[in-house]
Amino acid sequence: MLSVKEAQQQILNLQVKIKTKKVPVLDTLGLVLAKDIISDDNIPAYDNSAMDGYAVKAEDILGADKNYPVKLNLLKEDLPAGKVPCRSLESGYAMSIMTGAPIPQGCSCVVMREDTQEKGHFVLVFKECREGKNIRYRGEDIKKGDKVLKRGKVIYPGDIGVMASIGKSEVLVIYPPLLGIMTTGNELLEIDSELTMGKVRDSNSYSLAAQVKEVGAYYKKYGIVRDEKEILGKKITEALAECDILLLTGGVSVGNYDFVKEVLGSIGAQLLFWGVNQRPGKPLAFLTYKDKFIFGLPGNPVSVMVCFEMYVRPLIKKMMGMDKPFRNSIYAKSSYNFEHKEGRTDFVRVIIEKKGSEYFFKSTGTQGSGVLTSMSEADGIAIFPEHKGNIKKDDDMQIYLLKE
Ligand code: AMP
Ligand code: MG
Repeated sequence: MLSVKEAQQQILNLQVKIKTKKVPVLDTLGLVLAKDIISDDNIPAYDNSAMDGYAVKAEDILGADKNYPVKLNLLKEDLPAGKVPCRSLESGYAMSIMTGAPIPQGCSCVVMREDTQEKGHFVLVFKECREGKNIRYRGEDIKKGDKVLKRGKVIYPGDIGVMASIGKSEVLVIYPPLLGIMTTGNELLEIDSELTMGKVRDSNSYSLAAQVKEVGAYYKKYGIVRDEKEILGKKITEALAECDILLLTGGVSVGNYDFVKEVLGSIGAQLLFWGVNQRPGKPLAFLTYKDKFIFGLPGNPVSVMVCFEMYVRPLIKKMMGMDKPFRNSIYAKSSYNFEHKEGRTDFVRVIIEKKGSEYFFKSTGTQGSGVLTSMSEADGIAIFPEHKGNIKKDDDMQIYLLKE
């Protein structure tokens, strides 16, 4: 059977198609830029005031002090932001100016309102000011022709602000894949159904949709499909016509009604692997169909989520143009001894505690693959690797962080 590392490597080695699309700038948050962003403008576009105060000539207020203020003539014209100055500033004069207003000709600095006092047609200046003080110069932040953001960069809110400031309303990005989500099982009920004997609500399509959404990709739900080969085949074909990655849950194990692999084979999908030496999630199947990918995820709710973290997420990240396929991880010390069978990788849902400068972890409790509360309680997934036997108290283990 394939090891976890081998299965992950197979997925990461795949050739994937990268889709690009021009989208409204606000929709680019968290995506990767597909093209350099070059500015067509200087930002700021003109010299302007960084303060509310008075536009003056620096040499006019040399030596100004609390006890020896300099008296300047106050011009009538006042400069709010948005107004173009009508006249230039002569020696011995001051002009009232607001933050963001263009600097009038002849002005070499702006003295803060707090360091002045207006007296009728005059203004007293109590502090000297070096040339250029409180002036934001044209192109000081961004120069026309500057490469402001580089292709391949992940977009954060600050980048969106920068792109807005230079008028980029639409931006070419790597467009995330569309994931189809389909759950299989005769026992499955819709979310708003009453539980009856033998039935369970379909939680897998919800946890998966949330996981896809968290990564920043798109999903389409294809609902619950009964364990019948013909219906399954029809539904899968329909989904593969639209989606880049199809996620199926249930029906991939060795039960009498586990038809997913057989049906996928009959429509011509290529099996890359089935079965990974791990717990939970052993019967995981991975297939390709033309340029599409298919995950046959086990039905158990924890297996579904863990397999998504370990295999689906990295593939999505790759298709989104990101170079970090896995979650951030830390090393933490085990709070107690754990039984672990050497020769298989276990993904253990854990709670992390910080004591002093060290991290410790403990189990969320029962680790059954149906105990979905273990996923909601977990801060992370600890990896108990194949090559290691029982875990001893204080052993340092790698933990993928689920809640950063
Ligand atoms: P299977 O892999 O189809 O044998 O399913 C394994 C277990 O997971 C069974 O107990 C199923 O009832 C359960 N299961 C399968 N699909 C879902 C689902 N969509 N939501 C919740 N539980 C499920
Ligand atoms: Mg089933």
